[in-house]
Amino acid sequence: MAEENNDNQTNDRRNFLRAGLFLGGSAVAGTILSNTLSASEETSGEKVKVMTAEGQLVEVDRSKIKIATDTLSALANNDERKGIPGKKWVMVIDLSRCKNARKCQSACNKAHALTGPNQWLKVYEMQDNEESSPYWMPKPCLHCDNPPCTKVCPVDATFKREDGIVAIDNERCIGCRFCMAACPYSTRVFNWEEPKQPIHIATGEHTCATSQPRKKGVVEKCDFCPHMLEQGKLPHCVTACPNGVFFMGDENEDTVTNGSETFALSQLLRDKAGYRYMEDLGTKPRVYYLPPVDRLFPFTKEDKEKTEE
Ligand code: SF4
Ligand code: SF4
Repeated sequence: MAEENNDNQTNDRRNFLRAGLFLGGSAVAGTILSNTLSASEETSGEKVKVMTAEGQLVEVDRSKIKIATDTLSALANNDERKGIPGKKWVMVIDLSRCKNARKCQSACNKAHALTGPNQWLKVYEMQDNEESSPYWMPKPCLHCDNPPCTKVCPVDATFKREDGIVAIDNERCIGCRFCMAACPYSTRVFNWEEPKQPIHIATGEHTCATSQPRKKGVVEKCDFCPHMLEQGKLPHCVTACPNGVFFMGDENEDTVTNGSETFALSQLLRDKAGYRYMEDLGTKPRVYYLPPVDRLFPFTKEDKEKTEE
């Protein structure tokens, strides 16, 4: 019975969020979150369109809409949304070390119960032109400091934490996919199917720190493993890579480590000509890349076949 009540509460909230989103038919600004249906008996005669959780457009009288101003401030005070105090998480990916081992990807998949094509971390074969040599490029969410995705979310389901992480509250997400369209790096995925996940995860308590339990009809992405960082541990992809490609650290401490080597972030970026993907966009990613020069592992036919599996 308790589970049934929880389900009802969740459904009620989604209904409310969806109703808010499509208020007026075309408006999608973040302020719409604060609109909800009023119990007032008086009517204005002016009809607005509202979408139900089942995807049906219905008309309601505008007088039935009231402003609930406390919703956003309650969200802002949520500790999960603030992140880990004093930290500014940053990742460095050394492309000169990647040989397409894909251990990062499988560790991420395992830790987050990801199956099928919706991996949060992808490894791409790159080649800038026919004359230059190909290389491998792992790409998680880049956790931008100026994220286009969070700005378009009409229900504040995806947000920027004070510690730098861009997170998604999948209990709050209504699956509109505006954030996917806004992300210039295509790092977000949509769950078209019911996720296959162990029963203890599927029935466990939801937390943004693990993005679990996973849900059908919502957007997901790399979350920088906040559940690991909270425990002073490195993200799964960092520790799983046998070639030390991934470095994680705190920009405030100017330190990054892959678990066995530790560098001053600023010096590493200076010495190795670190760069951010599509810097010109002004998104200010919190993931830096080190260029694929002086490669430890040359690009091989065997490595290439792994991407075609
Ligand atoms: S799909 Fe993206 S933009 Fe839409 S509600 Fe979910 S997190 Fe927000
Ligand atoms: S930081 Fe965590 S969620 Fe992101 S790619 Fe690495 S293992 Fe996956």
